[in-house]
Amino acid sequence: MAEFEPVLSRNWNVPDSRTLKVYESRGGYQAARKALTTMDPDQVVSLVKDSELRGRGGAGFPCGLKWSFLPKDRKETLMCINGDESEPSTFNNRLLIERDPHQFIEGIAIACFATRASTAYLYLRFEYINGYRIMEEAIAEARAAGHLGKNIYGSGFDLDIWVHRGAGAYICGEETGLIESLEGKRGWPRIKPPFPAIEGAFRKPTVVNNVETLCCVPHIIERGADWFKSIGTPKSYGPKLYCVSGHVNKQVCVELPLGVTCRELIDKHAGGVWKGRKAKAAVPGGISMGLLSAEELDTPLDFDGLRKPGCLGLGTAAVTVMDDHTSMVDYLYNCARFFAHESCGQCTPCREGTAWMYKTLKRIKAGGGRLEDLDILVNMANNLGIIPGTTICGLADGAAWPVKNVLAKFRGEFEDYIKTHQNPKYAVTPLQER
Ligand code: NAD
Ligand code: SF4
Repeated sequence: MAEFEPVLSRNWNVPDSRTLKVYESRGGYQAARKALTTMDPDQVVSLVKDSELRGRGGAGFPCGLKWSFLPKDRKETLMCINGDESEPSTFNNRLLIERDPHQFIEGIAIACFATRASTAYLYLRFEYINGYRIMEEAIAEARAAGHLGKNIYGSGFDLDIWVHRGAGAYICGEETGLIESLEGKRGWPRIKPPFPAIEGAFRKPTVVNNVETLCCVPHIIERGADWFKSIGTPKSYGPKLYCVSGHVNKQVCVELPLGVTCRELIDKHAGGVWKGRKAKAAVPGGISMGLLSAEELDTPLDFDGLRKPGCLGLGTAAVTVMDDHTSMVDYLYNCARFFAHESCGQCTPCREGTAWMYKTLKRIKAGGGRLEDLDILVNMANNLGIIPGTTICGLADGAAWPVKNVLAKFRGEFEDYIKTHQNPKYAVTPLQER
């Protein structure tokens, strides 16, 4: 098999890779020029559809298909790029923005041309202060050079990109929470349908794409759909940036074909588990996606390989490794605390369920746990996440997964913990707890 050649990260180690001069000297903006001057928008949509590019934000929804959902008779289209990147341990978009902003701008320009959007909003995670400055500079450079603005390359196509900073809420990474926040309101997700493609920002047809998804687009235009589909596994095509963090010797973000295994990422790219220890578990793609035990580390990390009992999907492909000294009680407690804090509170099952799971785990951790609490936790998780239509967005489901998953795989550890960590100060009766 031919050696894999990184494309998304190919400029990352080139000095001054964020400048227009360097980007253009390495072939940058040729794909945008080709799309805008030799193709019509529908041809671009067809090419991206043919490539079967799936969204890199987490859900893996086909990008070209999403673009084709826009109403045919629309008068205006808006593009929102989700750069909120709030899933714990995920930092691939941050690197794409900081190290090669023009690749990203080129992807935005082609996607906007394809969907006929003349305004693009980049919703950027609040904490990405460097990324914000870098994007502002790169957009100004691109505008001055004619890659953005009016009548780009004489094609008649106009485009402006505005960077909007978030305010630090996980829920604003959910596309309709993001749109509400962009509109200046509280970031409360909306009921779907209507999907943003029909009614999104400012009630106009809106495309919401992730940063990495758009960075793939120039390469598809340049090299074609067949090239893209020659990388990866069936139905999960193309290159992917995998983040590896946690208990490894080297925390990395590495570009590889979709479908590598956690074991390969840990051993070959992240220098192995730290301190000479063994892996106990790994979160394959964000804490809402479930967890792989040490025995499952050979599972391919692609969109479909991870859809199985115990895992929800690839998610953000941000792998967090836990060594064999890690307490799963601590891990689950942290997950529950996170989701209870980040639930926006609109839906009763999510607001109440995440809070109760957190309270119960806090009590277990403090030494007030009862064995029956484990069944109660599973019951709460089942009622939180699997009844369709009881919550507005996927956060509730995401909060339920770690509980169901960790207790299915590490229940014995929780039972031992409860038996050996009894502190009368925290013991409660069910009535008191209520
Ligand atoms: P989803 O499956 O509901 O939707 C995926 C996309 O497809 C959306 O843009 C949606 O509008 C579109 N879509 C789906 N059906 C459609 C239809 N019939 N018509 C028009 N458009 C349609 O998933 P989601 O709730 O948007 O995202 C969940 C994912 O987000 C999770 O898998 C999780 O991994 C990920 N996530 C990522 C981060 C991050 O930091 N990148 C943070 C939290 C969660
Ligand atoms: Fe808010 Fe949770 Fe409902 Fe999502 S599921 S809208 S986070 S309360």
